[in-house]
Amino acid sequence: MTEQPHSPATRAITAGRATSGNSLAPVLWASSTWESEGLDDAHRRATAVRHGDFYSRYANPTVGEFEHAVAELEGADAALAFASGMGAIAATVLALCSSGSHIVAQHQLYAGTLAFLQGPCSRLGIDVTFVDVATPGSFADAVVPGRTMLVLAESPSNPRLELVDLEELGAIKGPLTMVDSTFATPLGQQPLAFGVDISLHSATKGIAGHNDATLGVISGEAELLDEIWAYAVLHGATPSPFDALNALRGIRTLGVRTRQQNDAARSIAVMLADHPAVRAVHYPGLSEHPQHDIATKQLLQYGSVLSFELADRDAAASFLDRIVVARCATSLGGPETLICHPATSTHASLTAEECRRAGVTDGLLRVSVGLEETMDLIADLEQALPES
Ligand SMILES: *Cc1c(COP(=O)(O)O)cnc(C)c1O
Repeated sequence: MTEQPHSPATRAITAGRATSGNSLAPVLWASSTWESEGLDDAHRRATAVRHGDFYSRYANPTVGEFEHAVAELEGADAALAFASGMGAIAATVLALCSSGSHIVAQHQLYAGTLAFLQGPCSRLGIDVTFVDVATPGSFADAVVPGRTMLVLAESPSNPRLELVDLEELGAIKGPLTMVDSTFATPLGQQPLAFGVDISLHSATKGIAGHNDATLGVISGEAELLDEIWAYAVLHGATPSPFDALNALRGIRTLGVRTRQQNDAARSIAVMLADHPAVRAVHYPGLSEHPQHDIATKQLLQYGSVLSFELADRDAAASFLDRIVVARCATSLGGPETLICHPATSTHASLTAEECRRAGVTDGLLRVSVGLEETMDLIADLEQALPES
């Protein structure tokens, strides 16, 4: 029988199991250190790149299995995990950039990423040019040859689900390109297939998928990741093996979870788009989404997150007071449907002008669709919406 390439949801069942022997569940290596057999062996372990049996800040076998699983799902040569999504972003930026370096990023970013680029990066003399995702060619146009080290995109972006054309991004030559692909999960989007150098995830979200792990991960060429690892070991945003174990368990069900969440998100988006009290719905799966053509080109699933706009802050507040099945909380990609008001939570640290640029209005609500029955969710959101 010829071997057929299995679909991603099937590969998610076995990914990251190379060193677990006959155990179907991953093995938890809680150890922070490993014993050496003499000085030659100690030297070999201490100087090897990403050696698994030396000291857990350098590498850990359970974390290693999580990295293998993500690399397999991303179609990558290798992956490198961190203690959080922000740990992945901060360590990667600082591994690749120095004082005088230039970064191109977009206005519409996860607020932590934006704060990191504007605060610590600016303090360290790393210049950032922010561009608008909706303008074609804006990333490439902002590249300064010889000085731009990194082009950092987020797609779909938080919180308005704006898309970056990955083909356009992957075609940029010179600087390294990186996409924060958190909202899509590795089953919804494959940035590396478009020529992007690094795909990044806050695995705290859909990958781990149960709100019980804080993790980040990047995927790409092994040589590049080894270089980033050399800095990451000093940066110290080291992932916990317990969280890697939870994330591996989450990956096993990524296929069914994302399928259910995608279907429900689409039904909710359609219901909201038809409701008279809803001013706008942002979901790439709707044909009205201004970038729907890019969505169909690069997204394998439209995703579990959407956002929508009510008249103002008061309307958003009363809506959040009335929801019962969905809960008012930040984060995304977990079993519970979570709704947040970005202006007062995720984007609370932004100035009014920054909120305007990021598309965060007073009436904007972000929904992360969970695993409840779709009809229960729709009924819950409908009863919570204003009468007109
Ligand atoms: C949550 C999130 C991050 C940060 O991840 P943490 O695990 O919370 O550090 C980065 N980017 C996006 C798009 C996110 O949703």
